[in-house]
Amino acid sequence: MIRLLTFFTNSGDHNLLKAFTMKNQFNSKLSYAFLTILFFVPGLAIAQANVVESDSHRFEEVAQGVWFVTGTGSVFTMSNAMVLVGEFDTLVVDSHVTPAASRALLDSISVITDKPIRYLVNSHYHFDHAHGNQSFPEGIEIIGHEFTRMKLSGANGNVLEESTFKSFSDPVPATVANLERQVAAESDPARKATLEERLRVQRDYLNAIAEVNPTPPNITLETKMTLFQVVAEGSREIQLLHFGRAHTGGDVVIYLPQEKIVFTGDMMLPGLAYMGDAHVDEWPDTLDGLKSLNFDAWLPGHGPVMRNKDPIDNFQSYLRDLWTKTGQMYRSGVSAEQAAEQIDMTNHSDNFAQIRGAGVDPRAIRRIYQLLTD
Ligand SMILES: [Zn+2]
Repeated sequence: MIRLLTFFTNSGDHNLLKAFTMKNQFNSKLSYAFLTILFFVPGLAIAQANVVESDSHRFEEVAQGVWFVTGTGSVFTMSNAMVLVGEFDTLVVDSHVTPAASRALLDSISVITDKPIRYLVNSHYHFDHAHGNQSFPEGIEIIGHEFTRMKLSGANGNVLEESTFKSFSDPVPATVANLERQVAAESDPARKATLEERLRVQRDYLNAIAEVNPTPPNITLETKMTLFQVVAEGSREIQLLHFGRAHTGGDVVIYLPQEKIVFTGDMMLPGLAYMGDAHVDEWPDTLDGLKSLNFDAWLPGHGPVMRNKDPIDNFQSYLRDLWTKTGQMYRSGVSAEQAAEQIDMTNHSDNFAQIRGAGVDPRAIRRIYQLLTD
């Protein structure tokens, strides 16, 4: 109870008000199973929803001291994070897309705790989860898979020159230019203001990309590492688990067996994940590892807190089908670009809203062709 009362004191009236607003917004989104636990403090006629916001970040307490972190939109973060608050220290999972985005996260964590950050964990090496690493002050240990270190250390080439980073980042100047044209052409003051804000966020993002200096984990694991964080109730077991290659060569899920929560990074998303450097053929079996865990909630690298596990089966089925269909195209001599236009995955459209017709992300097909060729 002391912790909760402290939490109230630290929140301040402004945040309390914001928290209630957030709770109501979430309740209106019935399609998402947002957890809206109310803390009832004896002797106080007050209830607190477990969502707290800074200007740039939204923190949702999924279990005591376990915070699911999303961006509010004022800073381009591109991915989710998780913060685990203990009695003496804090562990952060994933660092967002730029040093500026992670600085905003570091500045925001004070709305939930004053415990110093001790560890940063990278779920995988991708830019949108790890290019904020450099903002974490010297002395904070960065933990990730050996593959994540190999990629971010530059030992096997510069990630800033690879297609995964470039295919997402190269279009940003065009996005900015396009928004500039839209702002100039818009006469309605309200719509103009909205566009100007989007333009500001994208310009800031573009400038922030130039600052990126890929920073690798300094502590690595191959298959498993367990941390025990001191919490008021004793200790929190934090398992870092690598079940095999999947979305990248070094995906790590962060599993909390006592809380029955798992942070899945991009290995498992509510929708279809990027596959441009994935191991599409091994991914479904790797997801069997995730399914072997005992959890009630899964926190994806993009999207909301999830409780339904059906999407895991659905995604395994999609991946196996995509592998089969692409293999048929490959063996019949169809080019990767043509295959990307022709492959029809609409038999999965009930499970994945983004499938609206024939055709697949060409980056996924090029990658599968590469795997079939090697
Ligand atoms: Zn990713």
